[in-house]
Amino acid sequence: MMSSSHLLASGATGRGLNRHPWAAAAAAFGFHFVLDFIPHLDPDDIWGDTGPLALMIGVATADFVLACVLLGFLLRGKPWRRTALWAALSGIIIDLLNTIPPIGPWFKSWWGTAWLDRWHHAIQPDVPTDAYLIGFGTQAIVIAISVWLLLRPARSPERD
Ligand SMILES: [Zn+2]
Repeated sequence: MMSSSHLLASGATGRGLNRHPWAAAAAAFGFHFVLDFIPHLDPDDIWGDTGPLALMIGVATADFVLACVLLGFLLRGKPWRRTALWAALSGIIIDLLNTIPPIGPWFKSWWGTAWLDRWHHAIQPDVPTDAYLIGFGTQAIVIAISVWLLLRPARSPERD
């Protein structure tokens, strides 16, 4: 899934596990793979390996930056802000490691991480590119639920 889905869902995970930052980080890391297992489309699925690289990087960067800004806005002044940000980083780290040079090529080829990279990509179901309503719809639903979870009022100071 795209960064926006992962960042917001991980942030919501962090809010839910606010009292347990390490559990929040672990849950967000694991939840990344659950989200990737849901049928979805990413822009690079549409353009393919030979697509316009600058455009793909631009879209991915814009998606990432916009999600960070939205997350920052949703977490502004909240007591669970630190844990939610920590979880958001944990929930997106695998895609950052996978993508950003010079770590990406190393992450894909070193024996200690290559298996994780292969598995990460193998679990992602291929949605036909003409089924973009499903492919992006599932991500829109993830984002909507995550924003709602981040926005909902605290039940009590003790609970959140
Ligand atoms: Zn992923």
